[in-house]
Amino acid sequence: MNKKKLGYKELPAGDLLEAGTALDFETGSWRSDRPIHDEEKCINCLICWAYCPDSAIKVEDGKVKEIDLRYCKGCGICAQVCPPKIKAITMVEENKAEK
Ligand code: SF4
Ligand code: SF4
Repeated sequence: MNKKKLGYKELPAGDLLEAGTALDFETGSWRSDRPIHDEEKCINCLICWAYCPDSAIKVEDGKVKEIDLRYCKGCGICAQVCPPKIKAITMVEENKAEK
C-alpha cells in the first residue's frame, strides 16, 4: 500500500487542555518509576509541590503529607528539583517499590 505522507500543514491539531485540570486525570497508571519521599530528610521547602505537573504532592499545614500515586505519573521532576544537599525524593522502579 502506497500511503501519501502528510505534510505538517495537513496534520490534525493535537489536543489542547485547559490549564489547572491535573486533578481531572488520574495519570498514575502511566508510572514506571515511583517517587519515594523521605520525611526525615525533607525540609518542607515545597519546591517539589510547586513543580509537580500532576498535583500529586499533597501538603498539609505547610508540610509534604504524601505523594498521591493515583495522580503521580513518575516523571521524576520532584526528585530533580529537590535541593541537591537534601535529596529527599528518590525514584525507584515501580516493580521494586514496596506495594
Ligand atoms: S514523579 Fe514527582 S513530579 Fe512527577 S508526577 Fe510524580 S510526584 Fe509529580
Ligand atoms: S523539594 Fe525536597 S525538601 Fe523540598 S519539600 Fe519537596 S521533598 Fe521536601
